[in-house]
Amino acid sequence: MERIPLSRPSISPLEKLRVASVLESGRLALGPEILEFEDRMSIAAGTDYAVATNSGTSALHIILVALGIDQKDEIITTPFSFVASSNAALFCGARPIFVDIDANTLNIDPGAIEAAINDSTRGIIGVDVFGVPADWTTIENIAERHGLVVVDDACEALGATIDGRKIGSFGDAASFGYYPNKQITTGEGGCVTTNSGELAEVMRSLRNQGRSNSAVMNHVRLGYNYRMNELSAALGNAQLERLDELLNKRRAKAQYYSELLAPYADEISTPSLSTDYKRSWFVYVIQLAPDYSGTERDQVMQGLRNKGIECAPYFPCIHLQPYYVEQFGYRRGMFPVAESISDRSIALPFYPEISSQDQERVVQGLLAEVSTLHARTTVRDVAFGSQKQM
Ligand SMILES: *Cc1c(COP(=O)(O)O)cnc(C)c1O
Repeated sequence: MERIPLSRPSISPLEKLRVASVLESGRLALGPEILEFEDRMSIAAGTDYAVATNSGTSALHIILVALGIDQKDEIITTPFSFVASSNAALFCGARPIFVDIDANTLNIDPGAIEAAINDSTRGIIGVDVFGVPADWTTIENIAERHGLVVVDDACEALGATIDGRKIGSFGDAASFGYYPNKQITTGEGGCVTTNSGELAEVMRSLRNQGRSNSAVMNHVRLGYNYRMNELSAALGNAQLERLDELLNKRRAKAQYYSELLAPYADEISTPSLSTDYKRSWFVYVIQLAPDYSGTERDQVMQGLRNKGIECAPYFPCIHLQPYYVEQFGYRRGMFPVAESISDRSIALPFYPEISSQDQERVVQGLLAEVSTLHARTTVRDVAFGSQKQM
């Protein structure tokens, strides 16, 4: 049987047309596509400014540089995220201070933030993990009380909203990323969104070798080459034109998985759906029941792979990554909620064009694997809708 990939970008004739026309134009860098992309992103995020970059990681880095974060500073963030969100603090020499997560949203637990604040604390990097908005209103209130900067790593949450506001518009600035597994892709790419004209100006300079934005060969600060190219921007413009379509398809695929898995809630819990916010579907991550160990989860994943079904352990805790253990002495046991959820999580194949048949094959494979471990329910040989019809 054919392998079912973990993710797959949705590329229509529109993307091909727009990228081809950039190739024909001969203008491959610093052109009109980037300006259009920034306009479209500021609308998608509900902000006054957008600054496109060559990755989500570089977007995060220039936000922290523009905010003046340095080696004297501590930055509060979540241990349950992709490693880039706390690496950005390390690039500036700052120390990441982790705070455990809320078991429902999987985002930083706002009630635990204040206990981690001290005289060295300069800011909070929240992450909208898997496309679920963090509790930004509470985070902004805490930051205001303590004079901290707020950064939203929104790389997984394009299109999400909370408290009537679009993700990307909270805090001092937000970062987006467009790797091919994200809601939209530019191949590689990223963007900062912000309502601060001053920050946007500094970040435009930082992404372009520290140039002053008026004179080309005048370098006024230490900058980087973090520019997005025109081919990527053209791809991104086509994807943003299709944003509603792409988000709706992802939502429908997520709903189908949740429907198929609903009868097996004792064994497998599905992503939380709350009406407190509108999530954007980045990945579809299930959790095995609390009595599964990390080793058993790994066995389930290996079993799926043997069946030609790709999957991933999203996310291993950042504080337990070897580099963080070595540099900062973090240990298992420090963030028990994040650790337990991390040990039991599996990301299933998820993308706009995954077929219902493939989703059913994934769920059958998963049920067969868990049946070999904790058989509370007999979950072998289930047949689903589209198979019964065949
Ligand atoms: C994807 C992602 C990033 C950015 O990744 P790049 O590969 O640098 O574009 C940053 N933070 C999180 C949480 C992400 O998921």
